[in-house]
Amino acid sequence: MSGIRPSAIRELLRLGDDPDLISFGGGYPDPALFPMNELSEIFHELLTTANARTLQYTESRGLPELRARIADRLTRGGTTCGADDVLVIQGGQQGLDLTAKLVLNAGDTVVTENPTFLGALIAFAPYEPRYAPVRIDEDGMDMDHLEETLARHPGARLLYTVPDFQNPTGVTLSLDRRRRLIELANRHELLVLEDTPYRDLRYEGTHIPTLKSLDTEGRVVHVGSFSKILAPGVRLGWAVAAPDVLEKLGLLKLAADTQSSTLNMAATATYLGQYDIDSHIADACAVYRHKRDLALKTLDEVMPPEVRFTRPDGGLFTWLTFPDTFDTADFMRQTLLPHAKVAYVPGTTFFPTQQEPNHARLSFSGIADERLVDGLHRMGDLVRRELAH
Ligand code: PMP
Repeated sequence: MSGIRPSAIRELLRLGDDPDLISFGGGYPDPALFPMNELSEIFHELLTTANARTLQYTESRGLPELRARIADRLTRGGTTCGADDVLVIQGGQQGLDLTAKLVLNAGDTVVTENPTFLGALIAFAPYEPRYAPVRIDEDGMDMDHLEETLARHPGARLLYTVPDFQNPTGVTLSLDRRRRLIELANRHELLVLEDTPYRDLRYEGTHIPTLKSLDTEGRVVHVGSFSKILAPGVRLGWAVAAPDVLEKLGLLKLAADTQSSTLNMAATATYLGQYDIDSHIADACAVYRHKRDLALKTLDEVMPPEVRFTRPDGGLFTWLTFPDTFDTADFMRQTLLPHAKVAYVPGTTFFPTQQEPNHARLSFSGIADERLVDGLHRMGDLVRRELAH
């Protein structure tokens, strides 16, 4: 446990009980988008004696009808697979844990984006890896830097990436870079963990193929999730990998929790059969696109020119970069004071090794328009005052 740090985000969410606080911290999906009526009917129907099997144990790799529906959707999106290529997992997070458990011995090197998803650092920590972080820009991981990094760490075992609308920066890996990433993974015999919870939340631009669909040697473990497109509380996601890898992940899943909830899997499979999830996702995208546009427009108005921020084509986050000497963790003491009451996630927590103090992650989901604008104005005022010193 000595290498395991508490999550700064969990700490922040504790502040969330204060109704006056405007928090850009969480990155929760907007609860107004949860299909409550549809799920309520489905659960009601499933919890009748005729459907008692939905409260029974089932296969550890997941209900066959759900695996088939997931495979169908992925195939329609260009990642061709069948039901037997899918392992149902307890949210994408479990895919990170199981993959790390599968490949990492203490001291092994994991290559990540710099910065990377905090939850991945938390998932990997018990396996005691070392990190080789790779620079990113608006097109995702920098492939020249990846090549240099792999030359310096020839024994690296795992490359973890969030190619679509990355958490925390919102940037997306370009197609050319995806192709090059696969070539480099092949050359260095790496396992690639492709984590895609935001992939379907694209608000503009064209769809880019998954790393899994470009994978030529079965090196990619593709992980996806229902959290951002249906509801995180059902705790369901999927992993797609080469048969030998998937079989081992399935054994680790069996050891970890036997199976995901039969009831939740049955309800999700039924939802996918009875409703058009793509139209639900299109509605969600309209809501989030509006929030993103409003957040970026307001940031343009309120932030001084020294503060830069990403303009994501999808997902839930923008990443702010302040001048080098600005410490966002320290600054939050001011933003949390009674006259301001604005929260965000200080960027340090997302860096696996050298923690840069001058960034902040802002989530624009699930905040009413007026509060979103008001919160950014309050923050912008404080930033201007601080930088004028
Ligand atoms: N990966 C990334 C990049 C995430 O942002 C999240 C959720 N915040 C997850 C994985 C895990 O989500 P879940 O387990 O709910 O699918």
